[in-house]
Amino acid sequence: MKVAVVGGGIAGLSAARRLLDRGADVELFEAEGRAGGKIGSHAEAGFLAENGPHSLLGSAELLRELAVGSGLEAEIVPAQKPATRFVHLRGATRRAPSFGIFSLGGATRAVLEPFFARRLEGDPTLEELLVAHLGREAGTVAARLMAGGSYAGDPGRLSGRHAFEALGSIVERHRSLLVGVLSTVRAARRRARAAPRRTSWSLARGLGSLPEALAASLGPRLRLGARVTSLARAGGGFELGWAGGRASFDAAVLALPPPLSAALVRELSPALASPLGEFELAPAAIVDLGVREDELRLPARGFGMLAGDDGLRLLGTLFSSSMFLGRAPAGHALLASFVGGARRPELVDLPDGELVDLCRRDLERAMGLSGTPVFARVFRHRVGIPQIAVGHAERLARIEAEIARWPTLALAGAGLRGVSAEAAAQSGLAAAERLLSL
Ligand SMILES: Cc1cc2nc3c(=O)[nH]c(=O)nc-3n(C[C@H](O)[C@H](O)[C@H](O)COP(=O)(O)OP(=O)(O)OC[C@H]3O[C@@H](n4cnc5c(N)ncnc54)[C@H](O)[C@@H]3O)c2cc1C
Repeated sequence: MKVAVVGGGIAGLSAARRLLDRGADVELFEAEGRAGGKIGSHAEAGFLAENGPHSLLGSAELLRELAVGSGLEAEIVPAQKPATRFVHLRGATRRAPSFGIFSLGGATRAVLEPFFARRLEGDPTLEELLVAHLGREAGTVAARLMAGGSYAGDPGRLSGRHAFEALGSIVERHRSLLVGVLSTVRAARRRARAAPRRTSWSLARGLGSLPEALAASLGPRLRLGARVTSLARAGGGFELGWAGGRASFDAAVLALPPPLSAALVRELSPALASPLGEFELAPAAIVDLGVREDELRLPARGFGMLAGDDGLRLLGTLFSSSMFLGRAPAGHALLASFVGGARRPELVDLPDGELVDLCRRDLERAMGLSGTPVFARVFRHRVGIPQIAVGHAERLARIEAEIARWPTLALAGAGLRGVSAEAAAQSGLAAAERLLSL
């Protein structure tokens, strides 16, 4: 079977690898000059910056398997302790959780949540769901932190039930969020005692080495700089067109952010293009600043800091050099700040100098940064993070109903079933399996 995979992010790479391992004749088309999509790393002046993900969860088993299979086992590095998180709220940066994050009234209302427990009905936004349970103050802040930290998203548009499936199922099962969270934490502790959980991890030369290794393993089957511009029916398969040519395949995997897949299938199947095109992408910029440690009043020790209100313009900052060794020269810290997202997309297009300045001033306020950074880098994701917004289940059902009519076409990529790198890789694997079962 001759299969075209369109999109060389981790979803497309994972699909191509599986297809190849099972004997299919694969060609992977990637628009840019390098594979990896949102995953990539950049070393400069003793700093190691990431374009997108900085760490993967211990539960990211498929990515671990792909890393091991690509000869990177010795490069897997666990995240360092402490994993402390900070929140910037009402002009102060505090450890989370800690007293003082909420007013007395707000905190009291939040702990009374079991009395406000309710059945999960319909498809509320993340903000509606959390405010209904925790009260206006704690609910608004919690929704802002969750939406910003995972999706660079808008809590007033993300689906409370589907963007955070664990949250949805806890409320579904327990009605009370607090009771459900406590019982989930207890069960997780019991499991961890039986079999210790794996910690978050990365790769010594950055997460970009995983797509690099996967791309290298594909050899000439990977076509870089090949943006696919058309997809037409050809017999039971498809004819693909790209700037450099045209070729026919028995089957195709579209491993692209949903609106980009929509653009390719618009002629072929308007019924598929329509729900795919409804996904919003939240653009984001990552601004890395390398600073002297002694110029930070709040030491950058831990996982990072999130903005809980509009007191900062950045969404949050990862303490990159605290999470993993070797990310900054001795005596320095690497801070990776996220800017833009669904609530402030226009910020992503600020000139580099203004973005650096915005982050420097916010970090002055939030962490007491003084002095001038010794290293700065801006990386933009204009094709941003897919948002699991209200109406997701209905959109997914329309996609599934239509794709069932196209046995030689498979969809992959972040957004359909989760937005983590692991979810994207899993979707690539599932797409490959669908075609292999033909
Ligand atoms: C800032 C940021 C931080 C993140 N942090 C984390 C994290 O901490 N943990 C985590 O698990 N996940 C994180 N993610 C999410 C994760 O990185 C993505 O979900 C995942 O990498 C998406 O992979 P993908 O293959 O679905 O899509 P992409 O990486 O978007 O790949 C799609 C590829 O298709 C190519 N392409 C587009 N159009 C065409 C065309 N017409 N023809 C050919 N090729 C085309 C693109 O150039 C791109 O390479 C983060 C994402 C971002 C943006």
